[in-house]
Amino acid sequence: MTACHDLHIWAISTRETALTAHLVRPVVENDDGLLRLIQEQLHDRFAIEHTTIQIEREPQHCRQASDDFV
Ligand SMILES: [Zn+2]
Repeated sequence: MTACHDLHIWAISTRETALTAHLVRPVVENDDGLLRLIQEQLHDRFAIEHTTIQIEREPQHCRQASDDFV
């Protein structure tokens, strides 16, 4: 993973937190394994239960990416 953008974290109830993010990963590898690892780390370290993460190869094509990526 080389970058992260469009990161949002919010409470969906008094006991549950959600997270969405775009991850930049130019090399195609085991994305399912990476997503599982990220989910486990977010759960274990920050008690975030609900995650939605998208992986992008080329962030310049993303409308939510900063101009800094171009
Ligand atoms: Zn994006």
